[in-house]
Amino acid sequence: MSEINRAIKGTNDVLPKDSHKIQFLEKTMLETARLFGFREIRVPVFEHTEVFSRNVGDTTDVVQKEMYTFLDKGGRSITLRPELTAGVVRSSIEHGLIYDALPQKVCYIGGCYRYEKPQAGRLREFHQFGIECLGAASPSADAEVISVAHQILNKIGIEKISLQINSIGCPECRKDYQAALKDYFEKNIDKLCDTCKDRLTRNPMRILDCKSPVCSKLAENAPKVIDYLCDDCKKHFEGVKAHLDSAGLKYTVNPQIVRGLDYYTRTVFEFISGDIGAQSTVCGGGRYDALVEQMGGNPTPALGFGMGIERLLLLIENSNTPLPKDKTCDLYIAPMGEKASIKATEIANKIRFDGFEVQTDLCGRGLKAQMKYADKINAKFTLVLGDNELDTNTAEIKDMTTGTKTGTSLDKINDTLLSLVLNSALENVTDSIIE
Ligand code: ATP
Ligand code: MG
Repeated sequence: MSEINRAIKGTNDVLPKDSHKIQFLEKTMLETARLFGFREIRVPVFEHTEVFSRNVGDTTDVVQKEMYTFLDKGGRSITLRPELTAGVVRSSIEHGLIYDALPQKVCYIGGCYRYEKPQAGRLREFHQFGIECLGAASPSADAEVISVAHQILNKIGIEKISLQINSIGCPECRKDYQAALKDYFEKNIDKLCDTCKDRLTRNPMRILDCKSPVCSKLAENAPKVIDYLCDDCKKHFEGVKAHLDSAGLKYTVNPQIVRGLDYYTRTVFEFISGDIGAQSTVCGGGRYDALVEQMGGNPTPALGFGMGIERLLLLIENSNTPLPKDKTCDLYIAPMGEKASIKATEIANKIRFDGFEVQTDLCGRGLKAQMKYADKINAKFTLVLGDNELDTNTAEIKDMTTGTKTGTSLDKINDTLLSLVLNSALENVTDSIIE
């Protein structure tokens, strides 16, 4: 197959046989977030480049190496969003959300674009679910945001995942810390990778996030930001821990967690799994108290997280976490002949209106071939519609699992089907209880 007939490196097609899994994840995410009061926001896939370059941070990997940036036909510099927080904050300021009743709680699902080296759990187009809580400074907000991610992972059935938290302080307490960090790494400058040598002058905290083995080994013994927190930041972090304890969430304080984007302040956190190899962070987030003001809004403390949907799916697969099975066709109507086919269209549409998945012949096939198809799509029930059925206005609905046939008037197929579907669902429940 030639290159142009293949999907672009680092992108994924979701095929019909798999889409129910993603739909289940997204439904669980949106519904769970809603229980905490987070409503969905949708923002464009591209923004002015500055929305990201200024706010995600020009010393971050995302901005330095990973952005898809291009000039549009009007000569503007446009970037495909590498994450959604910056766009969501841009939108919240533009539409005055941050001047309305606070906190504003929003959530999103959308594609993100990063020019990275594709590998398991690392794509160039991937999708994030995320939430942002704008206008809340109290530690209870940090615990609530973390709880949303925790409940989502829990409801999906992820068992082995650890919550790791840290505080990276505010710009005030970070001054002393940056100086101590610079001092430490300067002593080890020869061992640093080339990118980190540059980071040392521009933003030494980025070195702590470097994935090269030598730099991360050095980072292990670097001064810890948590030892440099000012009294207010210390108090805030203690508050977050107290609220997490009260919510019953288990966590580890990990001083290595600094997050890859520049806008974070105070609390940062990650949900990390041992089941997905190197790309082990499924969800990451934190507080970004200065971002809204930096982007032109009134000072508004805020925080949120992003959860990688493909990475979550990888974790689900690697850990054999069971997901609900896809629904199959409720009823296949097999018409024999033109007249029956016209009647089948009428009946099928009526029953679909009542919420059943109904399929019928679209290929002019004979009965045998139609039954083969019904079998292939795992239809739960079938109904043959021939001259006899049309004359008597009755037909039989066949249960494809048990072979049992139930007679019905053609006008009452939806009622008959409803009771059959309910009965078989009830039997399945009873069977699973007995098992
Ligand atoms: P990493 O350290 O793995 O590069 P990150 O710090 O760049 O992650 P964030 O920007 O915080 O990640 O994004 C939040 C989440 O989005 C990550 O925890 C991960 O689940 C997911 N994610 C980030 N980059 C990718 C990618 N290239 N492919 C798939 N998922 C990704
Ligand atoms: Mg990254």
